[in-house]
Amino acid sequence: MTVKYVSTRGRAPILDFGDVLLAGLAADGGLYVPDRWPVLSTHALSGSPGLGDYADLAAEVMWPFVDGAYPRARFDELVRNAYAGFAHPDVAPMAELGDGLWLMELFHGPTLAFKDIALQVVGRLFDEELARRGERVTIVGATSGDTGSAAIEAVRDRENIEIVVLHPHGRISEVQRRQMTTVGSANVHNVAVEGTFDDCQDLVKAMFADAAFRARHRLSAVNSINWARVMAQTVYYVAAVTRYGLEQVSFSVPTGNFGNVLAGHAARQMGLAIDRFIVASNRNDILTQFFTTGTMAVSEVHPTLSPSMDIQVSSNLERLLFELLDRNGIRTGQILADFRATGEMQIDARVAAELDRGWSGVRVDDAETTATIAGLYRDTGMIIDPHTAVGLAAARRSRPGSNGPMVVLATAHPAKFGEAVEAAIGVRPPMPAALAELAGRPERCERLPNDLSALKAHVARCSALGSG
Ligand SMILES: *Cc1c(COP(=O)(O)O)cnc(C)c1O
Repeated sequence: MTVKYVSTRGRAPILDFGDVLLAGLAADGGLYVPDRWPVLSTHALSGSPGLGDYADLAAEVMWPFVDGAYPRARFDELVRNAYAGFAHPDVAPMAELGDGLWLMELFHGPTLAFKDIALQVVGRLFDEELARRGERVTIVGATSGDTGSAAIEAVRDRENIEIVVLHPHGRISEVQRRQMTTVGSANVHNVAVEGTFDDCQDLVKAMFADAAFRARHRLSAVNSINWARVMAQTVYYVAAVTRYGLEQVSFSVPTGNFGNVLAGHAARQMGLAIDRFIVASNRNDILTQFFTTGTMAVSEVHPTLSPSMDIQVSSNLERLLFELLDRNGIRTGQILADFRATGEMQIDARVAAELDRGWSGVRVDDAETTATIAGLYRDTGMIIDPHTAVGLAAARRSRPGSNGPMVVLATAHPAKFGEAVEAAIGVRPPMPAALAELAGRPERCERLPNDLSALKAHVARCSALGSG
């Protein structure tokens, strides 16, 4: 039976994969989730000898979510192409740090951060679906740094797609900015918003909430609310467990919008034996509050050394909440509306107890982040980026008592955050050639105020470009 998709707020139409892929956000403001969790095939769980390489595993794990949307052979081919450009043959290799602690490197894609793993697949699926329908879309997204360049790399020069990416002006690293603004493709449009990442995200949400505008310009999203991204990210959790023969493993996941760790949750729901998720946050610790006390209160966003995690309201938490509330969309919608209105949320004791069994929240500040980068370099010579360091510090703090294996997800190449790394270890991490080349290239970017009507006017102009 084919998987269908329902909204976490219970008032949007039930859709097939192709529609969910193009829609992004649901019409009721909710996020799409599969109507049930498919069970991982024994083939997917058999590990590398039985299955071939990462692309084979990826196609096998994702297939139940897309079954009916593509012929299997075509889907396999799209997935294979998506991973062909990765710099490491294993796509997501692991290194053991000792004592059952592992580092899984998710940054071997074209923009050197983990988001490539999903977006290289999603860009191809978009293209395929649009071509099949004879349609075009304008993708609009907000980025706190890495999503934007990964989305741009995934769709640049595609015929049926314009892409508009908002980033908070002056709040992303220079390398991150250049990775986006130096792309010369005519279908790529960068916007620097005078505000925070949450402001950017609010602008995008407000624009999507205007149904007429959204329909007129065929708006679509590929940020981490898009189900297809979560789907593609489930694969490396399966790879970590099956290829390295780990049992009752826990994952420490440096978290911002909660998309990465939610994919782990999906893998666990599909039958993968995972013990705990360590939700690792920087000083922006609203999730730490949530996982330790069952309450959340919004405060302002603080800039940190791990900017891709400088987020207060993590969109993808809604998907977990929906399940914790027994998939009651109306109730989920109410709680989120109250949260929006009051800035506070409290879940009941039963739900909190359920969370306690499989989740921990850990906060790591900048000083500990820096000390973690320095300590690992001193002890092993390995260089990690600040996001990964938050994950590693959280993993170490969560481990006394439980000696099962733990995998830290390394989400960015250290050279993307060279200044913070240099401040910690005294040397600049070696810059891969692909990044070094960006320095001399011209940049293209429009600076706009934090204002919805200015943004809409700009998006309308961009979306008109390709259709002429
Ligand atoms: C996006 C990002 C994160 C946070 O991932 P979420 O899916 O938003 O939780 C962590 N580290 C890096 C380097 C990122 O780019």
